[in-house]
Amino acid sequence: MAQPLRLVSRAGWQAARPRAVTPVLPRALRGVAVHYSAANRDEQANHANCASRVRAIQAFHMAPSRSDPSKPWNDIAYNHLFCVHGYAFEGRGFGVRSAANGTYAANSEYHAVCFLGNDDQGRNDVTDAGRDALAALLLEYGRRYPWATAVVPHSQFRSTACPGDELRRYIASGAWREREVSWPVPLPRWFWVWARWRLGRGEFKRYGPANRARRPKIAPRIIPAWAWDRLRVLLGRR
Ligand SMILES: [Zn+2]
Ligand SMILES: [Zn+2]
Repeated sequence: MAQPLRLVSRAGWQAARPRAVTPVLPRALRGVAVHYSAANRDEQANHANCASRVRAIQAFHMAPSRSDPSKPWNDIAYNHLFCVHGYAFEGRGFGVRSAANGTYAANSEYHAVCFLGNDDQGRNDVTDAGRDALAALLLEYGRRYPWATAVVPHSQFRSTACPGDELRRYIASGAWREREVSWPVPLPRWFWVWARWRLGRGEFKRYGPANRARRPKIAPRIIPAWAWDRLRVLLGRR
């Protein structure tokens, strides 16, 4: 059974603060570009090492020597990263302009997600858990930006091996679209509080639906895709 999106927040991997945050223009979005870190997968044999790997990529991207020293990058270049253990790491996050796609237009029109690993010939580098994490991410992007349906390899924008043949094939197959979305059983307590807030019911009735000032602190900052799906099911039964 496919897993819901398991997201490691910036706090979770101890991200450095971004120098600046530039939002994307949502209506300019066309989709998501997929990358790989091209670091050997074996470095991440243990999930406990993945956070430090993401920190190292951020430090590399933000180093002044990376480009024009007078204009160092704002943050890790990717919007999200994903690992072979089935986790997604929050990079710049949803709705922020990426710096990974190679051209100004591509960074304005495509979010960027990056696989923490390589593409060795004849080896299943991405793994089922990694493909699952990518699928969960792509479905979440699709839910937030339903008009931006393209999912493309980095190599579409410039001459590069990125993200490797394995991911290029997986993207082209469209198999990620068929991924089943499931939710945890039992549902966590925050889900019910968040759902009542979202719908303006119960203790939130007098504030109306999704009153920003009343957003329950118990709810995660980024609501996972399964929770939105469960909410839609609840509404369907109303
Ligand atoms: Zn790339
Ligand atoms: Zn991992």
